[in-house]
Amino acid sequence: MAKTVVSIEGIESIKAYRKTLSDSLCKAGVFKMSSWEEAVEKGLCIACGEQALPKCTTDAGRKDYYITSICEVCYDKLYPEG
Ligand SMILES: [Zn+2]
Repeated sequence: MAKTVVSIEGIESIKAYRKTLSDSLCKAGVFKMSSWEEAVEKGLCIACGEQALPKCTTDAGRKDYYITSICEVCYDKLYPEG
């Protein structure tokens, strides 16, 4: 039976992938915020530039915010397939 739990390495590589993706979208001017670091520092959503946590209504949404720095509302628009 294969392990169903995602390894730490797996999570880190997803994080790195999402960060790279979000960072390039920031630089392309798709998002309101110009840098990932600034959004993380202030607890803002990089896509809409607003306080992110009040817009994350589910645990999954909060988890996604910690990975992507995108609030749940924007995340659902960007990644409709989940
Ligand atoms: Zn947002």
